[in-house]
Amino acid sequence: MYLVLMGLPGAGKGTQAERIVEKYGIPHISTGDMFRAAIKEETPLGLEAKSYMDAGNLVPDEVTIGIVRDRLSKKDCEKGFLLDGFPRTVAQAEALEEITQELSRKIDYVLNISVDSDKLMQRLTGRRICQTCGSTYHVIFNPPKVEGVCDKDGGTLIQRQDDNEETVRNRLDVNMKQAKPLLDFYGDKGYLKNINGDQDIDKVFQDIDQLIGGLAK
Ligand SMILES: [Zn+2]
Repeated sequence: MYLVLMGLPGAGKGTQAERIVEKYGIPHISTGDMFRAAIKEETPLGLEAKSYMDAGNLVPDEVTIGIVRDRLSKKDCEKGFLLDGFPRTVAQAEALEEITQELSRKIDYVLNISVDSDKLMQRLTGRRICQTCGSTYHVIFNPPKVEGVCDKDGGTLIQRQDDNEETVRNRLDVNMKQAKPLLDFYGDKGYLKNINGDQDIDKVFQDIDQLIGGLAK
């Protein structure tokens, strides 16, 4: 099964990726891990990517695509893979089509875990951290016994700058704008499967499992 996983920050992509990989034994290929591995193995493309990163520049598409091609050609990807964080653009998606064709494979599904943006705001802005011990809470999903106070040591709970409403709203807007053309591209191809991410974690996985289970045979 050849899968691409998509979803906005806070949609629960990481958790579902873990479950898919655990149940179906396919490699979870995230962009970050792939870059780190290529750099560590000192592949020609890994070294090229590193030179851009060291100079503080963006890694050009052809280098990123080359690293993806190398990674997907490895033996552990023969039976399947779960791509996460790639593609990010339609150009990259088109390149992925070519790579899979070269390897005589085809993307089965693009799983898009969708949660409406108000719910995501609630998830992402509700996090609180203890100033003293770093324990994390959530005002709705994991509240402390006393509002604003750490259960363990009575420390003050604060909201990180990254979690404030304006920052989160911006992050979501940027991600949504970036995802839109990709979702359209995969929708047109007929690969796109929207998964309702606004359910408990087990139910979300059940929906995914039902969809991809047939591919495993
Ligand atoms: Zn604490």
